[in-house]
Amino acid sequence: MKVLFVSSEVFPLVKTGGLADVSGSLPAALSALGHDVRILMPAYPEAVAAAEGPQELSLRQSGGQLTLLSTRLPGTAVPLWLLDAPASFGRFGNPYLAPNGAPWPDNAERFALLARVAVDLTQDRLGLGWKPDIVHCNDWQTGLIPPLLSDEPNRPAVVFTVHNLAYQGLFPYDTFLRLALPPRLWRMEALEFYGQMSFIKGGLAFSDRINTVSPTYAAEIQTPEFGCGLEGLLKSRRAHLSGILNGIDDIAWNPAADPHIAATYDADTLERKQLNRTALRQRCGLPDNPEFAVLGMVGRLVEQKGIDLLIDILDDLLQLPIQLVVLGSGEKVFERALKHAAQTQPERIAVTIGYDEALAHLVEAGADMFLMPSRFEPCGLNQLYSQRYGTVPIVRKVGGLADTVADASPEHLAAGLASGVVFEQAKPAFLLEAIYRALALYREPDAWRSLCRHGMGKDFSWRRSASLYAELYEQALADKSGSRPAAEPRYTDELAAV
Ligand code: ADP
Repeated sequence: MKVLFVSSEVFPLVKTGGLADVSGSLPAALSALGHDVRILMPAYPEAVAAAEGPQELSLRQSGGQLTLLSTRLPGTAVPLWLLDAPASFGRFGNPYLAPNGAPWPDNAERFALLARVAVDLTQDRLGLGWKPDIVHCNDWQTGLIPPLLSDEPNRPAVVFTVHNLAYQGLFPYDTFLRLALPPRLWRMEALEFYGQMSFIKGGLAFSDRINTVSPTYAAEIQTPEFGCGLEGLLKSRRAHLSGILNGIDDIAWNPAADPHIAATYDADTLERKQLNRTALRQRCGLPDNPEFAVLGMVGRLVEQKGIDLLIDILDDLLQLPIQLVVLGSGEKVFERALKHAAQTQPERIAVTIGYDEALAHLVEAGADMFLMPSRFEPCGLNQLYSQRYGTVPIVRKVGGLADTVADASPEHLAAGLASGVVFEQAKPAFLLEAIYRALALYREPDAWRSLCRHGMGKDFSWRRSASLYAELYEQALADKSGSRPAAEPRYTDELAAV
């Protein structure tokens, strides 16, 4: 199959979160299965700088000239096009946010441009001599592609993956007018969402198949608690909605060959993990006290990740024999609270604000336990890295965390199936109780070692997930060939249900 994979971030060219990891891994895994996958993404300056030998393609588009930079996904043979539109994408830093932390005011225009170029590419109007069978769109930034394609008589089949439903690309009606979108799209069954324009609704309403990045999240988003107001629409499309777990880049995240860690190890040399704990403490300025277990946390410091739950229990944690290492950035109020805690307890708490790939690897290798008390978690990657690194994840039973971590219940422990500690509610007391439980297990070296080893033996590679995506593409092609006239969305929804 020929697949155009469109994403607003692709590791290692630019990354703000898990979307980039998926976009950097899945196309290569699909291509290893024999599919012809090509990636389209914006030419942010960092992405251009990181690209290998980009070739400038000057192309004619209906609206005028257009430049694509043609390269390969680094380290692979997967072709990658960077949309070189300096006025829209020639900005350093976060792809979506201005230096003041607010969204760029022209985000709608920027990602509408990406969508229009993607549509022209699928119709080979840019003269590249290539037409995909499938367009694989990812998150709101690509949400206009499916509705714009619905006008094309010879459109490819469309798959839309929700990596995080909480980010929807909402803009005022004025913006809808300014983008000169077809007026028929201003309907509740299309882009209109409570008086605003929703990019993500375009993806959810007009794609042949929708998926999310874990089976549990696919079910959760059909409920008011997790559906962000879109649960009615998603429920109406449930026959076309599924969940496929993300894999991990098992070359970059391999404790047996990780260049970022102090000592490589595997399940048979697990004792070498302690060398990484010492290195992590040194790196973070914590004393190397063998009495303490090290708890790690890496990620965006936002409510979604339950960072406030952790902040709430810091005083209780200090009563326990633990040290805490946090790496992340996000909301200032959480950054300040964590920095303050580290300043007052420098021997017990270390906080690094910022983005640091190498330190993230060292935390995974050096920590004994890894915290993910998320309120919602579409898939989550860190709990997968943790298991691979023999670091016991302590997670809330939600989304992809529920699908990938087996609680250390007596039954699971007896059956050798446990791989972490799982708690039910996003409340500080539940997180604290889970940490107590983990520490009790930590004091039983044999049980602990078997917990670590079981996690290390699990297969989280992309190979399995990639074949599930290939099946999803087949389903999308089948749905498309049986579809109604392309200009009509295929259902009437919802919102009454909200
Ligand atoms: P999300 O996409 O919701 O942010 P995921 O767990 O799916 O969360 O993916 C986050 C990815 O970003 C992981 O690879 C994680 O290690 C990485 N990451 C997040 N924050 C940082 C940071 N401050 N420094 C280094 N890596 C980070």
